[in-house]
Amino acid sequence: MTTVTYIGLGSNLGDSRQILIEAVQKLATLGTVKTSKLYQSPPMGPQDQPNYLNAVVQLQTDLAPLALLDQLQCFEQESGRVRLRHWGERTLDLDLLVYGQQHIHNARLTVPHVGLFERDFVVIPLLDLDVNIEIKAQRLKDLPVVQHPTVAVLDDDSWSNI
Ligand code: ATP
Ligand code: MG
Ligand code: MG
Repeated sequence: MTTVTYIGLGSNLGDSRQILIEAVQKLATLGTVKTSKLYQSPPMGPQDQPNYLNAVVQLQTDLAPLALLDQLQCFEQESGRVRLRHWGERTLDLDLLVYGQQHIHNARLTVPHVGLFERDFVVIPLLDLDVNIEIKAQRLKDLPVVQHPTVAVLDDDSWSNI
């Protein structure tokens, strides 16, 4: 069965724009993708790290949640991701934000993703993909983070050439 999922993409090490483009191409091997605009955002957590590039991809896929997470973590590793410190700099972060209507809690996966509602670099690109999106009965466009976003648009939704 095909499920509509949303994946959050972030990078602030290396050639972040190219890394995100390649990530979208890899996600496209897992199903049908649509990309949000491309954003720049200040870092969360440690402030002595570069700004991030962020985007969200809508992926319609037949993969089950943990099989999808395996693929996301494989793509992170292929980008050369190394764990330096919590919420620290990374070449590629791929977070499973939403998997259909499912609520998932296990040792490897919490979906919808923790902190989603507070993170403008996730909420704003999600709204690009579906302006009326609701998660846990919350309309994202009504969230406080939408009023005063800290993210800046770098490019429209053609940035990944998908
Ligand atoms: P945050 O999850 O707060 O954005 P992070 O992305 O920096 O932080 P990671 O180091 O990328 O965290 O992931 C740590 C662990 O989070 C992974 O090993 C993974 O098993 C777990 N995890 C739980 N829920 C999710 C999810 N929805 N998407 C991706 N990873 C998840
Ligand atoms: Mg993350
Ligand atoms: Mg992550």
